[in-house]
Amino acid sequence: MRAYDIIKKKRDGAELSREELSFLISAYLSNKIPDYQMSSFLMAVYFRGMTDAETIALTELMLASGSRLDFSDISTPKVDKHSTGGVGDKTSIILAPLIAAMNVKVPMIAGRGLGHTGGTIDKLESIPGLRTDLSIKEFKDNVKGLGFSIISQTDEIAPADKKLYSLRDVTATVESIPLIAASIMSKKLAEGLGGLVLDVKVGKGAFMKNIRDAGKLASTMVHIGNAMGVKTIAVLTGMNQPLGKTIGNGLEIKECISALRGKMPDDLKEVVLTLGAWMVYIAGCVTEEAEAPRLSERMLMAYKLKLIDFIENGGAFKKFVEFVDAQYGDPGVAFKPDMIPSAARVKEIRIPAKGYIQEMDAEKAGIASMLLGAGRQQAGDRIDHSAGIVLNKKTGDYITPDEPVAMFHYNDETHINEAEEIFISGLQVGDIPPDKKPVIIDVVI
Ligand code: URA
Repeated sequence: MRAYDIIKKKRDGAELSREELSFLISAYLSNKIPDYQMSSFLMAVYFRGMTDAETIALTELMLASGSRLDFSDISTPKVDKHSTGGVGDKTSIILAPLIAAMNVKVPMIAGRGLGHTGGTIDKLESIPGLRTDLSIKEFKDNVKGLGFSIISQTDEIAPADKKLYSLRDVTATVESIPLIAASIMSKKLAEGLGGLVLDVKVGKGAFMKNIRDAGKLASTMVHIGNAMGVKTIAVLTGMNQPLGKTIGNGLEIKECISALRGKMPDDLKEVVLTLGAWMVYIAGCVTEEAEAPRLSERMLMAYKLKLIDFIENGGAFKKFVEFVDAQYGDPGVAFKPDMIPSAARVKEIRIPAKGYIQEMDAEKAGIASMLLGAGRQQAGDRIDHSAGIVLNKKTGDYITPDEPVAMFHYNDETHINEAEEIFISGLQVGDIPPDKKPVIIDVVI
């Protein structure tokens, strides 16, 4: 078999066999296929897509490139959540300790920033000393003892995804339904889970720009998860504007700490509570043979109230402190968030307009934050954990030229003007308040 023929076949729109995909993945992992050929294959998939059979085969092959964790010695349900990627999306860092406080285990393997979106691992690494490269043994011990752990992908877990993920990030091949589905599900199925809640972002700042594509991605992943024995549901959530009030790693951790102490902006709270309610619910269904029925509105509300209890009684915050300590970080950060490095410079961003913000383009805000240093422009770039954006105003808020819409935090001013231009070009202002759009769009079971 030759990589060339497989690329050509996909380029011409034919269906690949499992053997062909298997050859491609294993030869790429053993460096027999160079990045330029793999990039070309990924671009062919981007344009041609994959059949369901190809997507399932790709997921299984990527999963089989590493090992599957065995948590059978823990009887408590194990659930996780994963987002398809957004701007200001810090929900995993709030949810993992919150759900663990409710005695549900959360073994979470998370990713770094991809394209204009942020990544949980980059965010956590802004905590002084905190490590996400734990051994599998340490990971398992923390899940057993503390109730959760968050680590980056290791060479043992879906290494094919690890290698492909960095390549896709710099070859404009992220926004593909089969590639996203295989990437996420290969990692998640390796975690030894009973249940999985997927947050499929939709809108300007998401990889899926419309509800139809987001729905297709959600049902593809739900189908793969359930077929492979993990109870899986997906929640479609809005990503037209950034989530919460901060974008950028250290700034987002500070927002998470205040969220765990009970202070959350409404949009972030709604997403955290909805995903959290589904996680706790799915955990309860794990031991049942039957398919998980839809969660009624009444039950959803009851679970949300329970989650609020565990924030208000300090249980979630305590878990977070223990987590930072267990992963070699300085737990003092939770009490003094200013220990997280701050940027040397802060610039107020104002616009010469009066009125209600009609739109704040999340993708543009994500790109602006990346240009300030919070994300990577090229694979391997070092990121500045203190850089990013604090949003003083969001969609629906009234602004005047006297009030800053946002504060840019940065150390390196190379791209500051470009960042400002891009951010401002994503703002639209009008005379009447815009209709409020729900942040929770749909649930796919
Ligand atoms: N998250 C992932 O893990 N993979 C993707 O492709 C996109 C988001």
